[in-house]
Amino acid sequence: SQAHRYVGRFAPTPSGYLHFGSLVAALASYLDARAVGGRWLLRMEDIDPPREMPGAQRAIVETLSSYGFEWDGEMLRQSERQVAYGAAIERLLDEGLAYACTCSRKQLEGYPGPYPGFCRNAGHGLDDAAIRLQVPDRAYGFTDRVQGEFRQHLGREVGDFVIRRRDGLIAYQLAVVLDDAWQGVTDVVRGADLLDSTPRQLYLQEVLGLPQPRYLHLPLIIQPDGHKLGKSYRSPPLQPHEASPLLLRALRALGQQPPTELNDALPADILAWAVLHWDAQRIPRTRTLAESQLR
Ligand code: GLU
Ligand code: ZN
Repeated sequence: SQAHRYVGRFAPTPSGYLHFGSLVAALASYLDARAVGGRWLLRMEDIDPPREMPGAQRAIVETLSSYGFEWDGEMLRQSERQVAYGAAIERLLDEGLAYACTCSRKQLEGYPGPYPGFCRNAGHGLDDAAIRLQVPDRAYGFTDRVQGEFRQHLGREVGDFVIRRRDGLIAYQLAVVLDDAWQGVTDVVRGADLLDSTPRQLYLQEVLGLPQPRYLHLPLIIQPDGHKLGKSYRSPPLQPHEASPLLLRALRALGQQPPTELNDALPADILAWAVLHWDAQRIPRTRTLAESQLR
């Protein structure tokens, strides 16, 4: 049955603390899974040590716990998955779908659009080179549960993209696809900032022979000045003592209608109500929501 098949996840990057936008993503992915009796996994996307903030992993886990979230099984760390990422890259290289790129940032400066493919047939060695995945000259699209139809022409709009950086770090696009498949994720619920990563991920699923999950991209919470509420922009970290009011605020941002009796409730009780009453149809069908307009 559907209940046993649903696997959702929350996949934070430890480059900073969780903020209100992360709470909206954690909450929606959690409720969408629990409302059908599904599993909900936690995955730490720690594949970029230079951008990791010391203490962030621990703070993220503690914040989720203090907000009442319980995940199934052990948290997965992407830093433990390097062997799988390496094997996939090897395979894509062997199949001639990926290639080494030695272009410097300076060389690419005059080409603001998609990567112009200079190294596609150059036969560079792998040392001191990035690895790019060759994209086909066609569009990839899908029907998002909230955002509707979304398509991108990979050749014209995206271009051959990096799957392993020159410094050896694995690109998010590759890691996320391999891990969602490995963890059996059936439903990806995340912020709309990742909508335009999805066609690249669909292509990776196709070439790697992996199943395609369903997608639900949530409106992104933005500041009054239009800035995305994120780690790169100053946004207050979630505080444990604000758990209940912020959970209620996040529920309203997601179009849910918690009753006023919940105002003094504990996080666990708010979550229990929200699981019972979750209605994904009520999520606002927009790419962004201004934080100032949230009650
Ligand atoms: N780690 C990504 C982030 O924090 C989310 C990845 C995903 O949900 O696919 O923005
Ligand atoms: Zn190149």
